[in-house]
Amino acid sequence: MNSFDYESLKSNLRSYLESHNINTSKMFNCINPNHRDINASMKYYDDNKVYCFGCGECYNLFDAICAIENVGPKEAFNRALQYFCHGQKITPRQIKKIVKEDKIEKENKDYNKAYNYWHKKLKANKQAKEYLRTRKISDKTIDKFNLGYNEFDFIAGGLKAIVIPITDNSYTARNISNDGNVRYYKSKGSHTDIFNKKALVNNIPFCFICEGEFDCLSFETVNANSIALGSTCNIEKFKNIEKNKNKVYILALDNDEAGEKANLELKEYFRDNHIKFLDFDNLGFKDPNQALVQEEDNFKNSINQIIERVNRKIKQDEMM
Ligand SMILES: [Zn+2]
Repeated sequence: MNSFDYESLKSNLRSYLESHNINTSKMFNCINPNHRDINASMKYYDDNKVYCFGCGECYNLFDAICAIENVGPKEAFNRALQYFCHGQKITPRQIKKIVKEDKIEKENKDYNKAYNYWHKKLKANKQAKEYLRTRKISDKTIDKFNLGYNEFDFIAGGLKAIVIPITDNSYTARNISNDGNVRYYKSKGSHTDIFNKKALVNNIPFCFICEGEFDCLSFETVNANSIALGSTCNIEKFKNIEKNKNKVYILALDNDEAGEKANLELKEYFRDNHIKFLDFDNLGFKDPNQALVQEEDNFKNSINQIIERVNRKIKQDEMM
C-alpha cells in the first residue's frame, strides 16, 4: 500500500486528532495556540482539514502536528511519517514532492468557509451594521463583497472587526471596538493584494483607483467600478497585474504625501503604456470614504460628472 503520497498522508488528520482525544464528529476547541477559543469554534471537514470560525485558520495534518506538539514544519512532517508510514521505505524524492505540495496548499489557504460564517454574523450584529451605516456602505455592497463580522480572541489581544475578504486566502479586518489597540488586522498574505481585481478586467469602460478597502467600497456603493491598492506599496503589483488597457483609469488616491507620490508614479506608468487616465480630487477630503460620509450628494454628482467625461473621451477617440 502506497500511503505516503501527499493526499493519503494528509487523510490521517482525523485519526490523529482522535488520538489526541478530540471528537471530530462535533465542533471542538480550536488548536491554534494563538487563539483563546472558549466556544468550540473548530470543525473537521472531509477535505482532510479543520477550519476555525473564531480565528479563520485552517489546518491540515502537518499544521495540526505543529500546533498540538509545538514543533516546526520539518519536524511535524517527520513525525507524520513516523506515525503513519512506520517501517515503509521513503525516498528523498518522494519527501521533496510532498513538501512542495504542502507549500502550494499553504499558499492557497481557503478562508471561504469562515467568510460565509462571518457574513451571517454581520447580518445579526447591530453594532457592526451600525458601523457600516456610519461609513455609508450600502447593504448591496455588503452582500456583493461578502463583508463579515467576527470577534477575534487572540492571546495577544482581541478585536471586534468588520472582515473584508480580499481573496480566497487573505482578508483585512477593521477593528470597530473602542477599547481595541489595533485598528487593522490582516491575515497573512493580504498585505500584498489588490482589492476587487475583477474591476480591472470587466466590461465597464472606467475604473477608479483608490488606496483603502473602505474607499473602494464607497465607490462601489454609488455604483462606480473601483479597485483599492490596499497600500501605496502595491503600485508595482498594479503595474504587472492583468488589466484592460482600453479602460480610462481615474486616480482617487488619498490627499496626503504618500497618495500624491503614488498618483505621480501611476501617471508615469499610464503615459508610458498609452493608457488613458483622469484625476478625481475626492472633493478635497482626505479620501473617498470621507467624501461619501461628509457630502454624499456632492460625491455622487462629481462621480457622474467624471464618468460623463470618460464617455466623451471614448466618443472622441472613436471619431478620430
Ligand atoms: Zn481558531
